[in-house]
Amino acid sequence: SDIGSQKERVVTEEEWLQKWEMGNIGFHKEQGHPLLQKYLDVLLNGRSGLRIFFPLCGKAVEMKWLADMGHNVVGVEVSEQALKEFFSEHSLPYCEEPVPEIPGGKMFQSTSGNISLYCCSIYDLSSSIVGKFDGVWDRGALVAVNPCDRQRYSSLMINLMEKNSSYLLVTVSYDPNKHKGPPFYVPESEIKSLFG
Ligand code: SAH
Repeated sequence: SDIGSQKERVVTEEEWLQKWEMGNIGFHKEQGHPLLQKYLDVLLNGRSGLRIFFPLCGKAVEMKWLADMGHNVVGVEVSEQALKEFFSEHSLPYCEEPVPEIPGGKMFQSTSGNISLYCCSIYDLSSSIVGKFDGVWDRGALVAVNPCDRQRYSSLMINLMEKNSSYLLVTVSYDPNKHKGPPFYVPESEIKSLFG
């Protein structure tokens, strides 16, 4: 459970924006993630019309899947380019508005109203801005957060969850001395101490 030199590694917001600009987005899954299909029932638990949160959403196509099933999707992403690509690649009309509580923050909302994507850092959000969620799809999010920010991230996520919400987390398992990440290696023991 040792994460070695990854503990000190920091990827800045600027570096993430550059990845988007350069098209250096190997993490994006054009066809969506098979694990969401596999565990969809665990996330939904027979419920309909849920509010589902996508932290560090990129342009994840799973947001479209869940919206098409009748759920309300909220995402957060620092790259405005990613969010605009999401709407244009799915031919979804949207409008853009400022978020008064967040200096420089913007919200992109599908005209149909069921997809709201915040363009800001996840650390700018709170339940008073986005409300609470019935479900979370965390793929490429905890593993993309800088190791030094994990505690802050998990506290925020716990805060954004309704009582009976479900949280699906995808991590990656590999030798952290062989790759610098992201995605970072998050040991099972750390997940337990972060989320309880
Ligand atoms: N979850 C997506 C994207 C994973 S890559 C997917 O499955 O495809 C991680 C994403 O987080 C990148 O798009 C990056 O721009 C974004 N990001 C990094 N730090 C962030 C932060 N502090 N707040 C919001 N988004 C962030």
